[in-house]
Amino acid sequence: MSPRPHFLVLTYPLQGHIAPALRLARRLLAVAPDALVTFSTVAAAHRRMFAEGQDGGDDDDRLELLPFSDGTEGGFSPGGDVAELNAYMASFHASGRRSVGELVDALAARGRPVSRVVYTLLLPWAADIARERGVPSALYWIQPVAVLAIYYHYFHGHAGVVEEHRRDQSFVVELPGLPPLAVGDLPSFLTEATDPSDYFNSVLTTFRDLFDTLDREIPKATVLINAFQELEVTTLAAVGAYDVLPIGPVLPSGDEAGLFKQDDTKYMEWLDTKPAGSVVYVAFGSITVMAKGQLDELLHGLEESGRPYLWVVRKDNKAELADQAAVAEMGDSAARKNGMVVEWCDQVRVLSHAAVGCFVTHCGWNSVLESIACGVPMVGVPRMSDQRMNARLVEHDWRIGVRAEGDGSGVLRAAELRRRVEEVMGDGEAAAEVRCTAAAWKRAVVEALGKGGSSDRNLMAFVESA
Ligand code: UDP
Ligand code: UDP
Repeated sequence: MSPRPHFLVLTYPLQGHIAPALRLARRLLAVAPDALVTFSTVAAAHRRMFAEGQDGGDDDDRLELLPFSDGTEGGFSPGGDVAELNAYMASFHASGRRSVGELVDALAARGRPVSRVVYTLLLPWAADIARERGVPSALYWIQPVAVLAIYYHYFHGHAGVVEEHRRDQSFVVELPGLPPLAVGDLPSFLTEATDPSDYFNSVLTTFRDLFDTLDREIPKATVLINAFQELEVTTLAAVGAYDVLPIGPVLPSGDEAGLFKQDDTKYMEWLDTKPAGSVVYVAFGSITVMAKGQLDELLHGLEESGRPYLWVVRKDNKAELADQAAVAEMGDSAARKNGMVVEWCDQVRVLSHAAVGCFVTHCGWNSVLESIACGVPMVGVPRMSDQRMNARLVEHDWRIGVRAEGDGSGVLRAAELRRRVEEVMGDGEAAAEVRCTAAAWKRAVVEALGKGGSSDRNLMAFVESA
């Protein structure tokens, strides 16, 4: 009898990586009844996520949660200073590589050999570990196909042109299989990583290692993508060097462990009191930290919009504000007037609520996908990484939202926010069209994930190859 398929799912300890990794782990268990899955990220993140057994998945004994070591006690905290982040990255790579190798060997010794290693973006060495042991691996790409294509071509002959025009945001770059793109829409790591001591540079070096290791796969690297075929059908050809399998969007299947906890779920009852499609939901993911001036502009824009809003301001962002009392008051008075401010929420539940009519988002890829899956139009406020490209896709390719622009100093002003919110929530014909398109994409997601849909078939093909 051949051993049971056993997927080892490895992820970097950021919320935007952990969530899609955990959701994929669950999808694998759902579609492959005989499969085993081991989910692993660094020890500190494990403690934060699973210490109190919050993950609803303990019910499935086919899922094992095992940490690996990143060589630190406290672990990674996003938003730390650059020197700290650089030191973390170095430690993460060296210790992670050793520790994951030991993990794979220990699982084999326990009679639970790994048949497939699946790893997210910042673990290029995971592919090497697998290869050294004769185990196949797959990269799990957690950004859009278009961004995979940009990185691919950057590392395969097009770095020079990007480098040369790095400072000219409006310079147009032609990359094979992609529409002409402004330098300003490329991932920020490609254009802003200049100084070798810069954290962006460590990220870019890691990406370079990643694309190098993919080149070593014979005959072709397998890349699972948290996207779905219909969404990026024309772009898929631009990454023909790989076996590309869009299997998303992966969605939570109930309560889900994560790095952040919510205080309570009163916001759901608050949403229940609002008319359908009336609420502006505002959140900028797990990393973005905004200065007080920016938060003030957002508050005024939201209040002046006259629409009810639910706004996530993370605790670590609140600490950024000198005047804690003003924040507390902002929360309270907002609750009395138009809005509600929370420190964290169950975003997919919020986006699924009928009262929500628009998502003001930084366009992190998970947020974009969740919004698409829930049929909620977006106002994009991109910051870094792939977010500008994602915002472009939302506005320009999929027409399910608009992008809000900062002023000369990059600050999004209250008036601009108000104007953009009206462009997707207002009475105009264009706004109605955006809402209609968003609803159509929601149906497309249901189809892609459903039995026989494109993502379902791709995931089955992957499982059967393990
Ligand atoms: N998220 C959440 N509650 C919040 C804010 C964010 O559950 O209050 C989740 C969101 O659903 C998404 C993730 O955090 O799954 C953020 O990932 P994304 O890629 O959008 O952004 P990042 O945090 O990586 O910048
Ligand atoms: N990143 C990080 N810490 C930070 C900010 C950014 O580690 O405080 C890096 C991290 O390496 C991550 C990358 O930025 O992989 C991109 O972040 P993410 O994938 O969450 O971007 P998004 O999906 O939000 O665009």
